[in-house]
Amino acid sequence: MPTCTINDVVCEFEEGQTILEVAHDNDLEIPHYCWHPGLSIVASCRICLAEVAAPNPRNDGKIETIPKLLPACQTPAGEGQIISTKSEKAVESQHSVMELLLINHPVDCPVCDQAGECGLQDYAYRYGNASSRFEEDKIKQPKKDIGPHVLLYSDRCIMCTRCVRFTREVTGTGELMVEGRGATESIDVFPGKALDNPLSANVIDLCPVGALLDKDFLFTQRVWYLKSTPSIDGLTSSGDNLLVEHNQGEVYRLKPRENMDVNRWWITDEVRYGWHFIKNDDRLLMPTLKDGEPFEDDAADEAWEVTEAAALDGLQDAGHIAALISPMLSCEDAWHLGQLVRAIDPHAVLGVGPVPIDGQDQTMLDGFVIRAEKAPNARGVRRVLDALGGNIVDASGFEQALQDDASIAGVLITGNYPSEWVTPSLQQAIDGGRCVVLIDTLPNALVDSADVFLPAATWMEKAGTFENATGRLQSFQQSVRPKRWCKGESQIAMDLLARLRGETAAAFCDDQTRKVMSENGLTEMVRDVHHPPAQDIQAESDMHLIVL
Ligand code: SF4
Repeated sequence: MPTCTINDVVCEFEEGQTILEVAHDNDLEIPHYCWHPGLSIVASCRICLAEVAAPNPRNDGKIETIPKLLPACQTPAGEGQIISTKSEKAVESQHSVMELLLINHPVDCPVCDQAGECGLQDYAYRYGNASSRFEEDKIKQPKKDIGPHVLLYSDRCIMCTRCVRFTREVTGTGELMVEGRGATESIDVFPGKALDNPLSANVIDLCPVGALLDKDFLFTQRVWYLKSTPSIDGLTSSGDNLLVEHNQGEVYRLKPRENMDVNRWWITDEVRYGWHFIKNDDRLLMPTLKDGEPFEDDAADEAWEVTEAAALDGLQDAGHIAALISPMLSCEDAWHLGQLVRAIDPHAVLGVGPVPIDGQDQTMLDGFVIRAEKAPNARGVRRVLDALGGNIVDASGFEQALQDDASIAGVLITGNYPSEWVTPSLQQAIDGGRCVVLIDTLPNALVDSADVFLPAATWMEKAGTFENATGRLQSFQQSVRPKRWCKGESQIAMDLLARLRGETAAAFCDDQTRKVMSENGLTEMVRDVHHPPAQDIQAESDMHLIVL
């Protein structure tokens, strides 16, 4: 393999790689703004200029320093090159670039959402000058509302054009452009257009400074208070890798987590903003009995004791039962619920809940796919239920089974959808004097008629595994604690099963469950599950608290 030397470190590289890519692969920092691995190379910001010495074939291969600094993002690495971004000339260039970029920048970090994760802040500290020589008036640029999710603070823009290239090269929608020239050059949307495409909010992540801001996150948190937990898209079948960013048990935003095998660097706006239902004011947070009085605020243990006993009694008394396992649940949830149902009635009908489909899959210019299937784990739930054996049906088969078989006297229904999901036909099929136990999160047509309602935790409030549209199994971690009295479906099923067997209930553990599943025919639950890389696990806030 050819080698070059970057800042005194000998690096191997593959033919065709740029100096910046080689540096990245070797964990060496070369500052950059306009370069992004998912976009074309424009070499416009000039902060990555490096001093390069290379063998000169016209002088017997003697190593000679190239007189001009070269952009590391655009220059191919070559055998025997000696590259420095720390030489006097390179450092002087970095200082000049930072001085230029900061001339018209408002330096309003105290009121900027990007503060704490800003490329300009970071590089000003590491590569900039301690003071400014600029004494003239700065050019003022307007703030603009450029789309449903994004605000543009033009003052802060450093004209890296990442956002413009994203709309041209990834979404193909081309809403953004560079307007004007020289010092008054600015980013804008084309007249009469809005930045409104299914991936629009990715420009917020791409923007290395605070010029493109998230309306949904605006002024809600300082980023250094946020903790990041690796997660997986819990709303669609994409399996997109995410970071859930939260503080003190409240989720504030979702960010894409890079995974070149799944979502590259992007997530859809639908996924980025679709999580808000977890803190919906209407969320059902207490177990209830039909026609029963609400439990006292401090009676969580009693509420669960009474309702779980009623749920188990109702299903056991029914004798023959059916259960609808939602595709919004994890494989582990499906496993525990399946175990419970089969323990109550070995011949129970098990069905996979309705799988919402919206249009067709849409493939972006760079290959990113927006999934039409709006459930994260239809395949995983089906896989687990199939492993349990017996009669497994889809949602329409479930309705049919209820209509055809009057001996089914009890039903266990699970939902956990982000919006109303109960169809009139399902409601009608369930009706008929059956005992109904509902485990769900939001109000719907079944809540009032269910004999027992048990409040469930959403996917961010529990750990588990989803199988995406391509059959990839991926684990996700618990980001925040369940709201109020809610519990994960796995925990509810384990508690009911322990009660049925007269045992003490254990706490749910996703690793342990996958192991048990693997020992019971689902070997892939240990063998094939992709876990978040170690560096993404529970990234703590970098805010250090000092106890006075
Ligand atoms: S708005 Fe942000 S991403 Fe777009 S050109 Fe300016 S600095 Fe770059």
